[in-house]
Amino acid sequence: MKPTVLIYDVGGCEGCPVSILRELPRLMEKAEVYSKHIGNADIDKQYDIVIITGSVCINEKSILDRIQKLRENAKILIAYGSCASVGNITLFSRGGQEPRPEHRTFQPITNVIDADYAIPGCPPAPTSLLTLIDALTTG
Ligand code: SF4
Repeated sequence: MKPTVLIYDVGGCEGCPVSILRELPRLMEKAEVYSKHIGNADIDKQYDIVIITGSVCINEKSILDRIQKLRENAKILIAYGSCASVGNITLFSRGGQEPRPEHRTFQPITNVIDADYAIPGCPPAPTSLLTLIDALTTG
């Protein structure tokens, strides 16, 4: 049976999810894929693998709650991209921005929840994700 994989973006430039979508046909050969871009993402379900892209605004409780739920519902959680892995350019997004001036501090998801794996890159080569999923799901 194919593993279930959820792709979920929490606040990047969308470059990471778009890079994964470019490899979607190959990814769908290996896994049952869920994503808001496909229209079937449901964070209340359990998944074998959850891939999170983007960084987290730690002033926004709803996002903190959401990634906590994603962690609880994932057997394996992957931080995909430099924003999710190490913060990247979003570390410089502090204070005073319009129209959301309450957004002051962005952090990589690896600073907020436990990630099992992190794939840096801006965006990473999506083939690295396919290789990791192969390694995780084949004996
Ligand atoms: S790592 Fe780069 S491509 Fe990915 S969300 Fe961040 S800025 Fe965009």
